[in-house]
Amino acid sequence: MIADYHIHTKRCGHASGEMEEYIEAARNKGLKEIGFSDHVYVYWLPKEERDLSIAMAEEELPEYINDVFRLKEKSSDIIIRLGFEADYIPGHTGTLKKIITKYPFDYVYGSIHFLDGWAFDNSRYSEGYKDWSPRKLYEYYFKTVQNSAKSGLFDILGHPDLIKKFDYRLEKPPLDLYEETARIIGEAGVGIEINAAGLRYPAKELYPAEEFLIRCHHYGVPVSLGSDAHKPEQVGSSFDQCLELARRVGYKQIAVYEQRRRKLVPLP
Ligand code: ZN
Ligand code: FE
Ligand code: FE
Ligand code: ZN
Repeated sequence: MIADYHIHTKRCGHASGEMEEYIEAARNKGLKEIGFSDHVYVYWLPKEERDLSIAMAEEELPEYINDVFRLKEKSSDIIIRLGFEADYIPGHTGTLKKIITKYPFDYVYGSIHFLDGWAFDNSRYSEGYKDWSPRKLYEYYFKTVQNSAKSGLFDILGHPDLIKKFDYRLEKPPLDLYEETARIIGEAGVGIEINAAGLRYPAKELYPAEEFLIRCHHYGVPVSLGSDAHKPEQVGSSFDQCLELARRVGYKQIAVYEQRRRKLVPLP
């Protein structure tokens, strides 16, 4: 069973299309299971400083949950999961834990879009790359991914090498960082996703890089799939490539989630 677990909704302020349209798109692609995983509100900043083009307002979270439940109950041919994409922000994990444990999520993504408040994956702030030497930035990014895995807050790490989004690369792939990070994710018992969105950006590559995924597979890290759809037509996009990569690296199973319990099912 192939599930697309990374789907956004209009509420995040930068996605388009009604939730019903995402479900219809999934149906047309022959998917039997999907999960909505909208962005957590900007819980680490005071309300008046929150940018509503990054994520929903705090008041919208209960409505998001209700909408997903309403659609879940209505849908008989596609399983719909309640997911969430939660930013890992060191120093604010207590607040996040309260949000995550308050609602009956099927799975929670831990994603890193910010390093010390810098939205490195937002093209509006790309001048921030100039403040770093590439190797130091990669080290800091992957250290943060490792800490997100160790936090115990998440089921799946989202787009685990997002730092390459704008094709900001090292001369050689950081195999040592891949190795260390994969080992720590494996020890923490957290899953990762193969995320198709990298293909839509200058990186022109799935997240994570094959050399990283090989090491994740070696350390027994379970994998799931996500399109990171922000438009209905992106649901299930490039899943052929995602599956091909998973198989090539040696995965025989894929992870599905219900009420934060993981089950491994055979790859088609
Ligand atoms: Zn988004
Ligand atoms: Fe993300
Ligand atoms: Fe996303
Ligand atoms: Zn995402």
